[in-house]
Amino acid sequence: MTEFLPFTRPHVDEAAIAAVGEVLRSGWITSGPKVAEFEKQLSEYFGGRPVRTFNSGTCTMEIALRIAGIGPGDEVITTPISWVATANVILEVGATPVFADIDPITRNIDLDKLEAAITPRTRAIIPVYLSGLPVDMDRLYAIAAKHNLRVVEDAAQAIGSTWRGKRIGSFGDFVSFSFQANKNLTTTEGGCLVLNNEDEALLAEKYRLQGVTRSGFDGIEVDVLGGKYNMTDVAAVIGLNQLPQLPAITARRHALAQHYFTSFGAGFEAETGVQLPVQNFETTNWHMFQIVLPEGVLRADFMGKMKERQIGCGVHYPPIHLLQLYRERGFHEGLFPVAESVGRRIVTLPLFPKMSETDVERVVLAVRESLS
Ligand SMILES: *Cc1c(COP(=O)(O)O)cnc(C)c1O
Repeated sequence: MTEFLPFTRPHVDEAAIAAVGEVLRSGWITSGPKVAEFEKQLSEYFGGRPVRTFNSGTCTMEIALRIAGIGPGDEVITTPISWVATANVILEVGATPVFADIDPITRNIDLDKLEAAITPRTRAIIPVYLSGLPVDMDRLYAIAAKHNLRVVEDAAQAIGSTWRGKRIGSFGDFVSFSFQANKNLTTTEGGCLVLNNEDEALLAEKYRLQGVTRSGFDGIEVDVLGGKYNMTDVAAVIGLNQLPQLPAITARRHALAQHYFTSFGAGFEAETGVQLPVQNFETTNWHMFQIVLPEGVLRADFMGKMKERQIGCGVHYPPIHLLQLYRERGFHEGLFPVAESVGRRIVTLPLFPKMSETDVERVVLAVRESLS
């Protein structure tokens, strides 16, 4: 029987497992020397910018919004096609989420529509790099500068992606990454935030741990309301194991994505009406390989047929504005037609470093069979 192929599988090697064992035996298992070392290496990776780690790539964005002083009465613009965390953090700080429709080709926020959604109350924008593909970063920061807006990049999926040869995270305003199990680099759960200066980094540390500042042997002060968002050394040591492997992980993902295009063949889109992702081998880290099914093909049926062929698919993502929490805030069908259409038909195919070229060919065959 053919083995089930999931749409992703975390990349954790024996060295990482051994390193976790060492931390657990060391007597120091929460935030400590491994977190400090991971933050140092991440900072080097991001060109020397200040970096702090957290227990998710969600609280990173919430904390960035808090550092920027965004709250009730402020509007924050984002995309409807993302993990719901991207919009939830806006609600979490008491601000108002505003969505702008996506570009049908890149499936990222359409920057023309983003600019059109700016009002006098807009304070920040949260762009998302779906499947690791950055938006036009020059244009993004030109819009932010023109309208005096903060940017919190939801780069959860984009570690290893670049823009004009520079790593995502090595430039810009706040940049948030997730190290959740499915991401290109994982710490099981976790995340990091790239900040602009040491004042912001200090504030991030306070928000991360109950607002506490310690001084001397016995001094403690609390002047902001923080939460409990610190990364453990158990998690950090997995990140330390993975960071040096990131170039190889990204290269492997590129090779598999290239093999998908080769295996589908040049005429595939015209033949089937399926939309393949942008053939980008420059800026994206190929976090996911996502196709958009033709109108008239029911996604659940398609995924069922793939599953019969022992292939797992994912849905990333149903539009956020149509989830109940957002409907209750006045959002409804028809507001963002491109996102709604793509959100109904998008499917994530298997892509992870340990997959083989033969696996890719198996998926391509299964897609063809499931469509006919
Ligand atoms: C994974 C992800 C998040 C959330 O990250 P967590 O670490 O799971 O909190 C946010 N946005 C996007 C686009 C993601 O893919």
